[in-house]
Amino acid sequence: MTISRRDFLAQTALASVALTAKAHGVTKDDHGPAESKATVPASASRHTIICSANGFAYLERGYERLRSGADTLDAALAVVSGPEDDPNDDSVGLGGLPNEEGVVELDSSLMHGPSRRAGSVGALHDVRNASAVARAVMEHTGHVMLAGEGATRFALKMGFTKENLLTEHSRKIWMLWKEYNSERDWWGPGISNPGWKPPAEHEISENLPQSVQRLYALAANLGIDPGRRMDAIHKVLRPPTGTINCSVLNEKGEMSGVTTTSGLAWKLAGRLGDSPIIGAGCYCDQDVGAAGATGSGEENIRAAGAHTIVENMRHGMSPEEAGMEALKRIARNFNNDMARLKYVGMKYYILRKDGAYAGVSLWSRSANWPWEAHPESPAQFAVHDGTARKENCKYLYDGAATDWPPFPKYPAAAAGGIK
Ligand code: ASP
Repeated sequence: MTISRRDFLAQTALASVALTAKAHGVTKDDHGPAESKATVPASASRHTIICSANGFAYLERGYERLRSGADTLDAALAVVSGPEDDPNDDSVGLGGLPNEEGVVELDSSLMHGPSRRAGSVGALHDVRNASAVARAVMEHTGHVMLAGEGATRFALKMGFTKENLLTEHSRKIWMLWKEYNSERDWWGPGISNPGWKPPAEHEISENLPQSVQRLYALAANLGIDPGRRMDAIHKVLRPPTGTINCSVLNEKGEMSGVTTTSGLAWKLAGRLGDSPIIGAGCYCDQDVGAAGATGSGEENIRAAGAHTIVENMRHGMSPEEAGMEALKRIARNFNNDMARLKYVGMKYYILRKDGAYAGVSLWSRSANWPWEAHPESPAQFAVHDGTARKENCKYLYDGAATDWPPFPKYPAAAAGGIK
């Protein structure tokens, strides 16, 4: 087909009108190709980082990277490697709570907007920085995702350090979980074992539910520090999740996103949550924006949460609307049955390419330990667009998700002697 100079100029003028309309967020239903219906505003002019609240302490160093001209993925990794390297954070990387076999298995996925590439690892073991390994998969292989033994062997070949990720503290909590659930197996010392000790009477309050009393005695026998015993018990009774997601936008409008985790505590070996799944735990489209998730991984996989949100924004929703709609899909997957939904926790962190952002949560509050001090706190996320701060999430339901499996509640006064 040939095209005259006059036609070319006319088409160029039309295209430029369409682009201008797009830049102002205008939807034109009656003109132009389908693409011009997108209502994603133009790129932002300032650096912006959004992440789960546990990334707050590392926002500054991510932002510093952006200021010095680093790539958006470098900045995102600078944030998430903080909790990965922290042995006291038992939800990510080194020190993460292990699977039911006592092995710390890590999941991570990431997307680099400008090159439109992705990388992911699942059930990685013996290497602490799962996000950096996911990046190596993206940069050094023709694949997107490696899992299990293959992922670990790949990481070691790439020069990552092999180390035992199970810290002494996490190992003891795992032992506590194992022994507590061992009425039908042989974990835990039998009464003929010289090391067996009867529960220490003075450490048990009659007012506590039996399960907590039994766990408290077991924790004492395992040598768990008295100051950390109730926290360990909580983790045994309520297998914790905990993950970090981070999305980054720079002044040029380039974007990246990453999610990394040790996943659900006590999971079956080989279980993959949403975090390593591109489109569930993490998604980034350079034309639209990025989204990531923390919470009940199985539920988020069923809703393909991060991808759903980015697509919602592509079709004109604001970050908040896009996130709330994804939360409603999770509720819909349970036929809005609150008896089930009260056991689901889900938060999304959303950043559009014009810098608009939102944190949304299924529940308005998070339950805390110890309850006596702060029974519940608002569901939050962290953001840095010049100033680092935490903000409250928008939410679907008022309240906090209920512990699953249900954690026995007891009167605050009874906890006085047991901390
Ligand atoms: N979504 C993660 C998982 O299911 C856990 C979390 O976000 O806390 O493994």
